[in-house]
Amino acid sequence: MTPARFAYVRPETLDAALAVLAREGEGAMPLAGGQSLVPMMAMRVARPALLLDLNRLPGLEAIAVVEGALRIGAMARHASVLAHPAVAAEAPLLAMALREVAHPAIRNRGTLGGSLSLADPAAELPACMLALDATMVLASAAGERRIRAAEFFIGLYATARRPDELLLRVEIPRAAGWTAWFEEVARRRGDYAMAGLAVMARRAGGLIAEARLSFCGVEPAPRRLPEIEAALVAGADAAALLPRLAEPLGSAETPAPYRLHLAQVLLRRATESLHAAA
Ligand SMILES: Cc1cc2nc3c(=O)[nH]c(=O)nc-3n(C[C@H](O)[C@H](O)[C@H](O)COP(=O)(O)OP(=O)(O)OC[C@H]3O[C@@H](n4cnc5c(N)ncnc54)[C@H](O)[C@@H]3O)c2cc1C
Repeated sequence: MTPARFAYVRPETLDAALAVLAREGEGAMPLAGGQSLVPMMAMRVARPALLLDLNRLPGLEAIAVVEGALRIGAMARHASVLAHPAVAAEAPLLAMALREVAHPAIRNRGTLGGSLSLADPAAELPACMLALDATMVLASAAGERRIRAAEFFIGLYATARRPDELLLRVEIPRAAGWTAWFEEVARRRGDYAMAGLAVMARRAGGLIAEARLSFCGVEPAPRRLPEIEAALVAGADAAALLPRLAEPLGSAETPAPYRLHLAQVLLRRATESLHAAA
């Protein structure tokens, strides 16, 4: 299959890229690692009039701790994030989840910003951003805008990013005293998750004092579930609440009741494991 005709630009500066988006609006689509967008174009699910290649923009792949937060540039490749010592130290949840994302060849090209901007319901990284309470930093020709992850993912393949904006980076608050837990169920290693769960839990005095969590692959968009978080903190049967609170996606291969069952199994494992270690 071949894509529909499109124009292509590869600007060398962020200002030039933002000027293109300001001019072209929805007709332009940013190209990051191309691991999702290029197949979507080949299948003609995506038909950009103009492809805005981000691969020559300077500095967007940087990973560093700045002013108490781990900053990861939108163009940081999955493999770089997975291997970075600052990620291992400050956000091990991301490394746990990235081991489950696709295969090495895809991780060498795919980017954090591409995954978050696409907002595939089965993707691991959006769920991690919610559990990590990350902030998305977006830029347009009018300036920068910051959005908490909880407000960024708004639906199936939908984010709060405007067509004239680029995702520049994420900022993850340092999490001393917090423990990460991630697990997923997929048909084969590297496949998208049928259900996955990202949890951050804060310990205090031998107890779990606070928890943030999000599923991936379960609902149309990742979200925090405050009642489930409270039950997990209390050591109650959080999984028993899930049928009332979650609206699982269904498909021929993974019907909604089965997806719900997997989500409940993951939640029980997380609760047991985090309380045993507290
Ligand atoms: C076989 C296969 C298996 C995979 N398995 C998994 C998996 O298990 N889990 C998983 O999470 N992913 C998986 N992926 C997807 C992979 O992680 C992609 O890398 C990712 O979804 C998109 O990242 P990208 O950099 O390739 O983005 P692209 O494909 O270049 O872009 C994706 C979308 O994001 C937009 N975009 C990109 N960067 C920006 C930006 N900075 N600002 C605004 N918009 C932007 C693009 O316009 C496009 O709409 C898989 C892919 C393949 C091919």
